[in-house]
Amino acid sequence: MKTETPKKKRLYIKIGNEKFYGGESKKSMLEIASLYDFTKLYIPIEVIRGTKSGSTLFISAAIHGDELNGVEIIKRVLQKLKSRTIRGTLIVVPVVNIFGFNTRSRYLPDRRDLNRCFPGNAKGSLGARLAHIFMKEIVSKCSHGIDLHTGSIHLNNLPQIRACLDHPETDELARFFGVPVVIDSKLRDGSLREAGRKRKVTTLLYEGGEALRFDENVIRVGVRGCLSVMRQIGMLPKSENKPVPNTKKVYVAKGDYWVRAPHSGSCRFLKKIGDEAARGEAIAIISDLFGSHAVNVTTESDGIIVGLRTLPLVNRGDAMAHIATFTDRKKVKRAIALDTTDSTED
Ligand SMILES: [Zn+2]
Repeated sequence: MKTETPKKKRLYIKIGNEKFYGGESKKSMLEIASLYDFTKLYIPIEVIRGTKSGSTLFISAAIHGDELNGVEIIKRVLQKLKSRTIRGTLIVVPVVNIFGFNTRSRYLPDRRDLNRCFPGNAKGSLGARLAHIFMKEIVSKCSHGIDLHTGSIHLNNLPQIRACLDHPETDELARFFGVPVVIDSKLRDGSLREAGRKRKVTTLLYEGGEALRFDENVIRVGVRGCLSVMRQIGMLPKSENKPVPNTKKVYVAKGDYWVRAPHSGSCRFLKKIGDEAARGEAIAIISDLFGSHAVNVTTESDGIIVGLRTLPLVNRGDAMAHIATFTDRKKVKRAIALDTTDSTED
């Protein structure tokens, strides 16, 4: 009689109905909703697993559906990993808010902000359900996460990391991403970062560029940052290509504030993103449609412009610029200039 030798039990992770075994790379569609016209909605994911165990990292983009730089960053990270073997597991989710992505909107169909719906609820609104599925199927299976964002529509952001630095591991990872500007940003209620923290998933948020645009520098810096984090958490060998990023050139802002329009009108910008601004310096001039009543838009204190409006039409009180303050803004300015010219993708 023939006896079957028991097969060695292979370990897998299950996402949705799909099993992903060690050494496998494959794409899958995770079902998230069924709409009133019977359309089923899915978010596309790709899982890359090494044969050796290690960290599990998710990289997500377009939680705000019109923020596109992260979509391209993920595409390029995958290209970079094609010929490499990783340790552990990488889960990429190029588009989380598939509703907003298809309608080129930041929001969900009911105008909710998905990044205020976490950790979600299986019996809640569309956004709460999507957040719940994303947490249950992706985030809860990870040790680390990088969530990719851009500025909102008509707002351009300098490449920057936003992270809650009172958590030592997050602080370390924020520096290893390697962008010169890090903003110590409190966890917001309902955000993915907050939900990740509660589940002990060390999560960074990378911001850069503006909605509905690809920005080549922001994309390159983002790709380099993701690969650098993968190296630091042992998913890629530390010795390959560029070693540890120069964390001495990473600066944490002392604080940050918004400059708002003191008047309504159209405006001419006098400064660019990444420029220094001294206290009281004009960053833009607003005048009415006939050129009369010109008013300078000035800063409250010395800093670096890390976010700048791109739409030249403003109403009084509109956000004009986001300024980050530093102990030595000259050093930060130099680091930004160097980073922009040296944004090679490892
Ligand atoms: Zn965003």
